[in-house]
Amino acid sequence: MNTSRVILDQVTKSFSGHDVIKGVSLEVKKGELVVFVGPSGCGKSTLLRLIAGLETPTSGRIEIAGENVTYAHPSKRGVAMVFQSYALYPHMTVEDNIGFALRIKGMPRAEIKLKVRAVAETLQLGHLLHRLPKALSGGQRQRVAIGRAMVREPDVFLFDEPLSNLDASLRGQMRVEIAGLHARLGATSVYVTHDQVEAMTLADKIVVLNGGRIEQAGPPMELYRRPANLFVATFIGSPG
Ligand code: ADP
Ligand code: MG
Repeated sequence: MNTSRVILDQVTKSFSGHDVIKGVSLEVKKGELVVFVGPSGCGKSTLLRLIAGLETPTSGRIEIAGENVTYAHPSKRGVAMVFQSYALYPHMTVEDNIGFALRIKGMPRAEIKLKVRAVAETLQLGHLLHRLPKALSGGQRQRVAIGRAMVREPDVFLFDEPLSNLDASLRGQMRVEIAGLHARLGATSVYVTHDQVEAMTLADKIVVLNGGRIEQAGPPMELYRRPANLFVATFIGSPG
């Protein structure tokens, strides 16, 4: 059985003649949490948006769950993006925020209610279904943002710096929650951050990006112990 959930094959992207992603190839296996890390402007978000279908590559090929999705519409890729918590609909309750994508799909109300409730229980939001986002804590809002992706039951979750607007202690707590949730769900995720600690603690595999290229990819401890070059060593914060 093919266990690859995401395959990028020599993907490039240029914006008005300027190369932003320069021949990136990588594989995300089922159940893995792969973290893209690197300095601001290195192409992390662009790479994630290429996987999500919010951008199309200039060249190369993208496969998700065994299908060539290089030019497929975002809704046809089996991916769901987790946005920062401030992207919630402020006038909708927790229940309606989580169920939004299913209503758009035209799923019957009773079925939506069941699915939303199950997701809310998993995220410890079951008692908050009728609240508006403004009546939630930062951590609860972030859990609603995750719930909105979860309810769609995607093949792959995509996170773009989901914790960057939370304060440091909450960020630490949410990091632990996301890791636990990921393991329990057996989810497959691509997670973007510029935070080395987040990358080291969450990742099964870290992909270090620099100037639109992969400097090194591997398990956190491998990068830490055997950085391929000075950039990786400095970025990961290892002694070597
Ligand atoms: P990161 O998420 O790692 O900070 P981005 O992927 O957002 O980096 O950006 C990588 C580079 O691509 C940057 O130089 C950015 O200015 C450029 N870029 C991103 N999106 C666009 C766009 N739509 N048009 C032009 N340039 C873009
Ligand atoms: Mg970014």
